[in-house]
Amino acid sequence: MKKIVVIPGDGIGKEVIPATLHILQGLDLPFEYVYAEAGDECFEKYGTPLPEETLELCKESDAILFGAVGETAADVIVKLRQELDLFANVRPAKSMRGVKCLYDNVDLVVVRENTECLYKGYEFDVGDSAVAMRVITRKGCERIVKFAFEFAKREGRKKVTALHKANVLKKTCGLFKRTFYEIARNYDIEANDYYIDAGCLYLVTKPWIFDVIVTTNLFGDIVSDLTAGLVGGLGLAPSANIGERYALFEPVHGSAPDIAGKGIANPTATILSACMMLRHLGFSEVAEKIEKALKKVIAEGKTTPDLGGNLKTMEFAEEVLKACREV
Ligand code: ATP
Ligand code: MG
Repeated sequence: MKKIVVIPGDGIGKEVIPATLHILQGLDLPFEYVYAEAGDECFEKYGTPLPEETLELCKESDAILFGAVGETAADVIVKLRQELDLFANVRPAKSMRGVKCLYDNVDLVVVRENTECLYKGYEFDVGDSAVAMRVITRKGCERIVKFAFEFAKREGRKKVTALHKANVLKKTCGLFKRTFYEIARNYDIEANDYYIDAGCLYLVTKPWIFDVIVTTNLFGDIVSDLTAGLVGGLGLAPSANIGERYALFEPVHGSAPDIAGKGIANPTATILSACMMLRHLGFSEVAEKIEKALKKVIAEGKTTPDLGGNLKTMEFAEEVLKACREV
């Protein structure tokens, strides 16, 4: 029995999570689902956006499935990443038939370092200027690069590309690039690198040259939104936050207050995040089945309004579950 802590959160988090659970629960998995609170509503109720109880439940979990939180995002998701040491942020971008996007042959994964770089938060004022410090550690580089290669190996991917700016940021990016090639030697997987600026150009002009991308926190934050845009946007982009002990799976999008409560949010990003969770827990065949079903349903034009269809969130989930039973 695996213990899954479920945090729906705010806004459409409370719609895409039940839709995703509808599918998981329909497939009879050996999972125990434990609900926990976090986010804006939780803050109003208890005066804290991330209660100690939620954190404790997360620390007893085999995996965490997270929806979205609104204004309190920084205090919830950033805090969870720190407390649970979720150092790797994994964001796949894959084009899907039936979804309008720039290219129909994108299939790449961004592995972003999640704990250091400029997001360490070391900022201070110096007179009337402001300074931010970029922290890159050897340990941080080693574990994220190793993670990227292990991920590539496990998923049968052929190449790992490092993105950096070592020509200008000689110390910080220099360390990252050097560590990358040191670790690459231990793997029978192609390794190359680009400067982050050139890499962005290639991502837009010839994204098929990429397979797994590994990069530091700030670059990874920006690049992974770019790759989500490449394949059709936020409603489709899943992610995983992974550490040595814990793992949290969440859609890339936020609480989308503009459409919350209408029952029209696209649950695809959350369903795909759940598939990443299933793979992480060793249920690859079930993940494959759900992904196949999802693709089939979307290719048939049965979609939520953001993709031009007229299905409600739950109706879409029901179509996917039905297709799971057929594929
Ligand atoms: P937050 O502050 O919580 O991040 P936001 O206003 O930035 O909220 P996002 O969730 O980031 O909203 O979404 C940005 C836009 O994309 C919104 O217009 C939203 O309606 C749309 N969007 C995001 N996720 C989905 C989804 N799953 N289905 C349909 N539309 C979505
Ligand atoms: Mg947002």
